[in-house]
Amino acid sequence: MYWGDKMFKLSKKLETLPPYLFVEIDKAKRKARSEGRDIIDLGIGDPDQPTPKYIIEALYQAAQDPGNHRYALDQGMPALRRAIEGWYNRRFGINLDPDREILPLIGSKEGIAHFPLAFLNQGDYSLVPDPCYPPYKGGTILAGGKPYLMPLLAGNGFLPDLKKIPLSIRKKAKIIYINYPNNPTGATCDKRFFSEVIEFARKNKLIVISDLAYSEMTYDGYCAPSMLEAEGARDIVIEFHSLSKTYNMTGWRIGWACGSEKLVQALAKVKSNIDSGIFSAIQLAGIAALEGPDEEIRKMCDLYQDRRNCLIKGLNALGWQVPFPKATFYVWIKVPGKTDSIKFAARLLEKANLVVTPGVGFGPAGEGFIRMALTVPVKRIEEALERLKKIS
Ligand SMILES: *Cc1c(COP(=O)(O)O)cnc(C)c1O
Repeated sequence: MYWGDKMFKLSKKLETLPPYLFVEIDKAKRKARSEGRDIIDLGIGDPDQPTPKYIIEALYQAAQDPGNHRYALDQGMPALRRAIEGWYNRRFGINLDPDREILPLIGSKEGIAHFPLAFLNQGDYSLVPDPCYPPYKGGTILAGGKPYLMPLLAGNGFLPDLKKIPLSIRKKAKIIYINYPNNPTGATCDKRFFSEVIEFARKNKLIVISDLAYSEMTYDGYCAPSMLEAEGARDIVIEFHSLSKTYNMTGWRIGWACGSEKLVQALAKVKSNIDSGIFSAIQLAGIAALEGPDEEIRKMCDLYQDRRNCLIKGLNALGWQVPFPKATFYVWIKVPGKTDSIKFAARLLEKANLVVTPGVGFGPAGEGFIRMALTVPVKRIEEALERLKKIS
């Protein structure tokens, strides 16, 4: 292919994207399954429970109506934006303008990945937590920007140490990403930390992206705050929310961005050039979800909390010393001894038929950790613990 050089040469942006480190583990997992081994998959952050019935029913009804079969457009249905406004007000006591400050998304990953296109120029930096949810880096790079990694260390409660970010980087940065409750560490923060972030961002003229995908998945009475509650946040913060984890709707693709009108409308402009909205029937099902009974969410949290207690008590009985996360369905575990996280994950698969995610896949500061997801029933967690006991 003599002409291939030019034609198939990947763009610099795509080439700069970090390699997908989970590919090897995924391959090994599939191979193990095909050999008929009884794999327990604690690797993926995808709820195992079905979407609640009342939401499916709403989709079913809405899908029958030909009026819902056409391009949705219009920055999401006004009724959905009003339902989000109502939910936000009930949950955080904040009033948002449903026409200017709320934007439905095709899953929050979509909005998070597209947002940097609205504000980054070639070579601009964004401040990204390390370890982190991968689209923060991917979105930055695809927009021509450069991620600067802020390590999240156990000694600092897995919060970034903002003082340590060099002045030269602050000058070139336009965006800072903040995600609490946190994936992958399971860490939470209080309102005071959010206020510190706002002060830092104001001083350094940064846009703040707050990713609140896990705001409702909390335990032991902990209630996650919104960054928009912090003083001075309203004009510099865009907050991303998702129905995926809260309502077991990962496959449906629906979420939203809200906050600063300038930021929300800039993202809307990007999106108007890329997609044509969320299937209207899914938007109507989203309204049903947001206006539905809170018991469904409470029930899910109780289920995850039981699994968490079972897993962590078991791991601690093995001498692993794992703290109880107050939120998310992730458990972030220090690898015992000095093995690296990829080797350790490979060993768990080989010797115990357990799939876990190596921490380094979320960034260099994730090295030395593995992530387990609470997405299997207690019985399987007990079985996983038995297997760990046998090999340790
Ligand atoms: C799951 C997740 C999301 C949301 O995903 P969508 O399904 O795209 O709404 C966002 N942020 C984090 C940190 C997540 O783990």
